[in-house]
Amino acid sequence: MSPDLGKLDDLLAELKPYNAALVAVSKTRPSTDIDVVFKHGQLDFGENYVREMAEKYSELPPSIRWHFIGHLQSNKVKLIAPFVHLIHGVDSEALVSEISKQAIKLKRNIDLLLQVYIASEETKFGLSREEAVRFGTDLINTPMQGVRIRGLMGMASLSENEQLVRSEFQSLKRTFDTISSNINKENQDNFKILSMGMSGDYKIALDEGSTMVRIGSAIFGDRS
Ligand SMILES: *Cc1c(COP(=O)(O)O)cnc(C)c1O
Repeated sequence: MSPDLGKLDDLLAELKPYNAALVAVSKTRPSTDIDVVFKHGQLDFGENYVREMAEKYSELPPSIRWHFIGHLQSNKVKLIAPFVHLIHGVDSEALVSEISKQAIKLKRNIDLLLQVYIASEETKFGLSREEAVRFGTDLINTPMQGVRIRGLMGMASLSENEQLVRSEFQSLKRTFDTISSNINKENQDNFKILSMGMSGDYKIALDEGSTMVRIGSAIFGDRS
């Protein structure tokens, strides 16, 4: 199946009034499909697997901004550190330390989002809301060299229950606002990204304050 560029245009128009950014989630899709979407003007792409992302990076134009949205293991950070634009799924101090170490080596800054566990399901990764507030506030007010905490990311339950999904997004937004009000004034401009919403729930996420949605199947078709 080829990407649906009409759907992409509709999505961009829908995001505009919210001032929200689109990350086109391209995991499992061939580079040829990504190139079609890139040539249409989309710059931000999201991937879940380190090797897959590194391979696509080597095949596609360097102006693509690669977002890592999967669960990142510390021993794989070095494979994406030279080129990654934003790492969405950071959920431990050990991982932040490793990213900092690689960033220093490369003499670059790497932007991160802390992943917060908001779903009622058991399988999702992330920090609890309390941990996110404590850890986020500390890391922003006393930064580690080479890394910048730009915001939060979360995934709601995969559920038809709209009220449940909405309340999970609301709790992530409240966590975001708490950290925002805790941190020093000079850091507030850096902490602006709330990454929430996928193909099935992005409309609810936008209503609840998302500034960045991660959408795959609505653009590229169902993953087989
Ligand atoms: C796969 C994935 C998405 C996109 O899911 P779709 O339902 O295809 O839009 C978004 N975020 C994360 C973390 C994902 O793993």
